[in-house]
Amino acid sequence: MDLRSLSIAELRERVARAGEPPFRAEQLFRWLHGPGAGGMGSVRIPLAPSTVPRALRDAFLAEAPLVPLVPDGSVASVDGTRKFRFRTHDDRVVESVLIPDDKQERSKLTLCISCQVGCAWGCTFCATATMGFGRNLTAGEMVEQLYWAMESVGQKPTNVVFMGMGEPLHNFDQVTRALSIIEHPWGAGLSPRRLTVSTAGVVSGMDMLGRVRPLPNLAISLNATTDEVRDQIMPINRRWRIASLLAAARRFPLGHHRRITFEYVLFAGVNDSDVDAARLPRLLSGIPSKVNLIPWNPVPGLPFSRPSEARVLAFQNRVRRPDLPVYVRTPRGDDSAAACGQLAARIDEAGPERVAFGLVGHLS
Ligand code: SAH
Repeated sequence: MDLRSLSIAELRERVARAGEPPFRAEQLFRWLHGPGAGGMGSVRIPLAPSTVPRALRDAFLAEAPLVPLVPDGSVASVDGTRKFRFRTHDDRVVESVLIPDDKQERSKLTLCISCQVGCAWGCTFCATATMGFGRNLTAGEMVEQLYWAMESVGQKPTNVVFMGMGEPLHNFDQVTRALSIIEHPWGAGLSPRRLTVSTAGVVSGMDMLGRVRPLPNLAISLNATTDEVRDQIMPINRRWRIASLLAAARRFPLGHHRRITFEYVLFAGVNDSDVDAARLPRLLSGIPSKVNLIPWNPVPGLPFSRPSEARVLAFQNRVRRPDLPVYVRTPRGDDSAAACGQLAARIDEAGPERVAFGLVGHLS
């Protein structure tokens, strides 16, 4: 386990075992995750200032080495969305996306982070799925995406969503570690209400997530209103059918005034009919929900197309209910393929050179 993935409790244990005073755990945690942690990314980590004596830090690092991400370019699109690409210590590539200023909420800055290299679930419309499954990221590698984003824009994101590459509930242990680190007041200190875990529908993991405290927000990628269609676009549906997915959503222990987000990617002629629009609110009835409609972001080579804007709006109007808000998530970062939900390291096709991106700025 890398040092940056350890919980406070685990750091305390190690500090005690090392015969050090208990306050060292807080000092170590602040060094690894506190203000300035952004400046500690990869190469500079061993040199970051800390109240912990150098020899002690080195001893901890020897036991649990860091697995830093190396920034490998970032690309900004005209709407302000910015994609970051990283190389892992074992030479894999992952990405995160920073999405500013929703129209609804001016000061919002959402960071979409990756939790796996590639993904195992094979959704047929998804760019990441085309890579297959590489490996799980550690919690340290997840929080480091946050710290690099903070360093890069000099600002803390208001929201962090696990909607990048990978399936968070397929990497449950590390994702929940990352949540608890991001929430901790000695670290980035983000409220759990600002953290969202998005799943393709791993029902067993949803039940486990329901027992996590504090509870993060849950988003479910529904994307279809019948098993027949969902089977075609999301193979995970053959394991957990829509009915069992929604049953898990119903028993998810939502707090007061909280809703489950249902993501619904719209594909022309596949799931965007009036009949689908009529079925969707019926499926969700009884679940405090909101719906995010996401017109499909084209992925080269995949056999889908995005519905017209008029169709998207008509669909939105048909689904909307007084107790069911429905938002359209206009694809962001279109021009640089930076949209959240469209992450796949293009380097795989393009070879090791950075030819797939027009780099606008190089980190570090
Ligand atoms: N595995 C998790 C999180 C990663 S995908 C999940 O399935 O929720 C994050 C979101 O992006 C999902 O709602 C997914 O349906 C959506 N998505 C994936 N590829 C997309 C694309 N090309 N265009 C639009 N949305 C996409």
